[in-house]
Amino acid sequence: MTDAPDLVTARPRRTRDDEGNPRVVADVEGGAPLWFSVPAAHEALLTDRADHVAVALLLPAMRYGRDLHIGGVVTDSLLHRLNHDAQSLVHDVHPQYRRITVTAEEAAPAGVAPAGVATGFSGGVDSFATLTEYAASDVPTSLRVTHLLNNNVGAHGDGGRDLWRARFDGLSPVARDLGLPFVRVDSNIDEHYPLMGFMQTVTFRNAAVIHALGGGIGRSYHASEGTFRHLRMPPPHGDIGLAGAMTFPLLSTPALTLESTSSGMSRIERTVALIGGPYARYLDVCVDADPNRTTNCSHCWKCMRTMLTLEIAGGLDEFIPTVFVREPYERRRSQYYAELMASIEPNDIELVEYGDRHGWRWGAVPRGRATALRARHWARESTRSMRRRLRR
Ligand SMILES: [Zn+2]
Repeated sequence: MTDAPDLVTARPRRTRDDEGNPRVVADVEGGAPLWFSVPAAHEALLTDRADHVAVALLLPAMRYGRDLHIGGVVTDSLLHRLNHDAQSLVHDVHPQYRRITVTAEEAAPAGVAPAGVATGFSGGVDSFATLTEYAASDVPTSLRVTHLLNNNVGAHGDGGRDLWRARFDGLSPVARDLGLPFVRVDSNIDEHYPLMGFMQTVTFRNAAVIHALGGGIGRSYHASEGTFRHLRMPPPHGDIGLAGAMTFPLLSTPALTLESTSSGMSRIERTVALIGGPYARYLDVCVDADPNRTTNCSHCWKCMRTMLTLEIAGGLDEFIPTVFVREPYERRRSQYYAELMASIEPNDIELVEYGDRHGWRWGAVPRGRATALRARHWARESTRSMRRRLRR
């Protein structure tokens, strides 16, 4: 029990938006309704249960210390997980979040798992890796992707809906080529995460979408952020996506299996696999939120990492000028090398090792700068831990 007022939702209902897209809407007492929509052709995917509402609102309820009461039917096993291990995991990542009680108007056993197999498709390195493995014709039918999803769950920054639509249109030819439906799932879930970072909550946002499609989807793939060797819980207040392999089983039910995929390949292997492939020109890794951009910005950290990997592998030329442009990358390169060498992120360490193995010439200046960056980092860390000790 907590002191804050309960977070209470009504039984989800079905409506249509101004463009005729069917929506599942759950009214929220004292707040904006929570909704998810799909194009009319995919209405059969929408669920009649309220599992997606419970998954969507667990983190906001914990963040603000509010017990959660879900109207409608929640699958009994999911309700159990949301009251137990799912909260323990969230608490490990976000120690300031409170433990809460989750109840439902009605708890019921899971039904039969639908045949649909979905995966998010953003045009990023990781989503291509998952697609390459699970959309292939030699994959058993029970595992083969049947639906590609493009979710609007708050990932597109200030550009928001415009950027999301622009990216969707840009990627549609890949879906057409694969002969798979590309389903645009819109939602206002971001409104329900006030003052909560995107990367700190991303797994629950995407898992909520999959549950909202529980009328037709029985399995979903979520590309992991790195190899098995690098699987770990994120540091406190960190990126909860790193814990995907631990989180998704807790958000699954007998009727809907959520899986973390592609950990058999490192980020570098996933990137290099795109060279010479049929979809290289659709690669979109950039964090720049400008909906009018026509290529990847070629200077944000994600662009830099991808371009450098491709260049070390000898395949960057193929991506210029359709996917990347060379000038911004070359201008930032020396500074980026320094950041990379100072980083303690496994994917960054791996990239430096990859460069070393290929005899990459980093130059002397970045090494000096990296030493300075590292010294500054440790000075900050030791001041922080000193403050923590003094506060006790
Ligand atoms: Zn970029």
